[in-house]
Amino acid sequence: MFTSLRSRLWLTYAITIVTALLVVAVVFVVYLFDNPLVYRQTRLRLVVVASELLSNQSAWADLPHNRLQTQLASQDARLDVRLLVITPNRKVIADSRAGSAPDLQTKPFFRQLKLNQTALDVQGKPWLFVLRKLNNGNIFVSAVPRPKVSFWNILTDELMPPLGWGGALAFLLALLIAYSMARWVADPLQHVVNAVQGFSGSDAHPLTLQGPQEVRELVGAFNQMTTRVHASQKAQRDFVADVSHELKTPLTSIQGFSQALLDGTAANPEDQKQAAQVIFDETNRMHHMVLDLLDLARLDGGIADLQRAQVDLPGLLNAAVQRFAPQARSAGVQLEVQLPPQLNITGDGDRLAQVFNNLIDNAIKFTPVGGHVSVSAASIGAAAEVRVTDTGIGIPAEALPRIYDRFYQADISRQGGKKHGAGLGLAIVCEIVHAHGGKISAKSALGQGSEFVVSLPVVNPDASTLVQRKK
Ligand code: ADP
Repeated sequence: MFTSLRSRLWLTYAITIVTALLVVAVVFVVYLFDNPLVYRQTRLRLVVVASELLSNQSAWADLPHNRLQTQLASQDARLDVRLLVITPNRKVIADSRAGSAPDLQTKPFFRQLKLNQTALDVQGKPWLFVLRKLNNGNIFVSAVPRPKVSFWNILTDELMPPLGWGGALAFLLALLIAYSMARWVADPLQHVVNAVQGFSGSDAHPLTLQGPQEVRELVGAFNQMTTRVHASQKAQRDFVADVSHELKTPLTSIQGFSQALLDGTAANPEDQKQAAQVIFDETNRMHHMVLDLLDLARLDGGIADLQRAQVDLPGLLNAAVQRFAPQARSAGVQLEVQLPPQLNITGDGDRLAQVFNNLIDNAIKFTPVGGHVSVSAASIGAAAEVRVTDTGIGIPAEALPRIYDRFYQADISRQGGKKHGAGLGLAIVCEIVHAHGGKISAKSALGQGSEFVVSLPVVNPDASTLVQRKK
């Protein structure tokens, strides 16, 4: 029943209010039991009697004991109130009922400030009393036997109806206030729930920050999350568009050349061979692209199995440089290498080779005849730093931050031309370097060359920080 936050808040307030009212009612009823209406009326009578008699105290207060006694007895007979005069230290001088009623114990008179003023006589019967100071220093006491009070008397006390009405009214008012307070607290959350329910994936409008701080923080977090969701949806859409675009060109030429073979447009063996070669090259390109995409998806999803072993970095870089020596030679590019004798890191040797192959391949591809490509490595602090530098065409400043994006190619009409890939190489490089806990950065000046720096942590093969699966 009380499943919503609002109803729970309301219930909490209601329980608190009822508890407070109950406590007040209990205290009040206890007070009434202690001090019921008849006691209060009796005490009022005693006060009136005392005031009346004290108003002409000069006529009797200083009388000798016997006459004082008689005087008090006659007033007692008239007023039906026991009257006493006692010394400041509570010794009885005169008592209007001396002999006819049991003596009063004067001890409670010392505690006259107590709210419930009851004195016991020597037989243990309670008396209500009022004390007044006389001008001669003595104390005047008016007392009557405490009336008996039944439970019914207390329930029909004159204070009961206003208390009951007041309590009921307070309860109703408090419930109303509790209801609006519960709404006040819970409604902003309800707004968020409504907004979230009405949120459609394509709707990029952030929710407005309103309500209490916690709710605003929740809305802020929700807005951040939706921004990320939109970004990832956009990335997915872009990715599909890019893949389709990349496949369109080779598929069109495959279609065209196979058509030429089929309808006999490519009639002579020379043309047929050329058509077959184009089909072969394009399928090859598509094959590589699909393999790269699969690789990227595995790295991105954290499901690529990366080895963790000690890797001889100079050895690995030397092997890469050897592999690209013929390509550099035919491109007229001088390939240099500068490596320390020993530098071991931990990671997946094949994957790291893939990183440096890609960087060296790019460097050679984008460097014109007569240029230089250099590969160097050094140990810097707790990291191994590998630099692949070229004197090639460089990367425009505006393109630099995007070169790691999937399918990004700074300018495919530039050098590297036919040999350009699908723009997936650096994206894979970046994933592999990050999976090794490393960093990659690039500097470039258009027309002067580029420098890629890969920094990899030097750790023990058993260290758990390295070669992580993506979370
Ligand atoms: P691709 O397979 O097309 O080379 P990459 O992801 O390896 O894709 O590189 C992305 C883009 O970055 C390239 O198309 C190129 O424009 C630019 N690039 C990468 N390396 C270099 C370099 N050494 N010199 C100039 N441009 C480079």
